[in-house]
Amino acid sequence: MKKRKKRRLKTSVKLFFLILIVAFIGIHITKVKYEEYLYTKTSDYAITNLGYTAEELNLLNSKLSDNDKWHVANDIGYNEFLINFVKCKYFLARNIDAYLSLTVDKDEDFWHYKKPEDYNYDELVTKVNVMRHNEYYTNSVPTNMSKGYGIIANKYHYLGEDYIPDDLVKVEGKYLFSSSNNIQIRSEVYAAFEEMWKAAKEEENHYLVIESGFRTYKYQKDIYDDYAKKRGASYADSIAARPGYSEHQTGLALDIYSWSCSTANEFKNTKVYEWLINNSYKYGFILRYPENKQNITGYNFESWHYRYVGKDLATKVHDSGLTYDEYYAFYLE
Ligand SMILES: [Zn+2]
Repeated sequence: MKKRKKRRLKTSVKLFFLILIVAFIGIHITKVKYEEYLYTKTSDYAITNLGYTAEELNLLNSKLSDNDKWHVANDIGYNEFLINFVKCKYFLARNIDAYLSLTVDKDEDFWHYKKPEDYNYDELVTKVNVMRHNEYYTNSVPTNMSKGYGIIANKYHYLGEDYIPDDLVKVEGKYLFSSSNNIQIRSEVYAAFEEMWKAAKEEENHYLVIESGFRTYKYQKDIYDDYAKKRGASYADSIAARPGYSEHQTGLALDIYSWSCSTANEFKNTKVYEWLINNSYKYGFILRYPENKQNITGYNFESWHYRYVGKDLATKVHDSGLTYDEYYAFYLE
């Protein structure tokens, strides 16, 4: 009697554990299946399904947000150029469509199709980042004034007609080439210039002079209109900024020469210029329109035009080797 009871008890314990194990397996399978189901709802799954490899997916994940990835999945699809753009150091996800618009898809335009390896992706990324894929002065936007000393004014970012900085100060005669000039700049810029002026004098006996500082919208308009009237708009555009687009209106830009040379074409060959490009960033200034960068800045090389952005930012821009337009687009915009 006792033995049989014991055996029955043993059997029911075994049965209990068996049911428990089966239940656990069942739950586990359901969980795995559910996770698989959830995965099919992700952008990773959608992108992989389009034909992107695991390695390409990793690359996309390193530069794109989930929203951007859905944009790829839903609107772009598999695109042989996309990966090449994403690999670029200065790739910006917000510009994906603009980058791709500069390439030609075989299916859409067989005769103009170029192989993916025939493009210079870094160059295209830069072009779009600085908005240069638009004609000058088209699709331009009001500049973001909250950037303080970092505000940008170029052929795609403009200042309001009424913008006049409220801390302009008059530059002392000893810093001017012609003391009859009436030049104003923002007070912090002036302090930084004086510091730089002293350093140039003490280190190399260079005497810096200011040829131009703040210009009003009205003044720029008169210059531009005068050129346009005499020789046409395209000539005017080649030589002067349109009103609102001149960096001189910020009160942060200075045209700097030296006592020994105030000639635009010759200044670049002077020791003073050499000193400025190597040292001006220490005082918060950057060379705004460097040599061979006109396609990015929109301006021919101007060895005399310096822009105050503050010491920290000037050092970063200097170290990056980028033009301010590129730096702004990638790090500040
Ligand atoms: Zn200038």
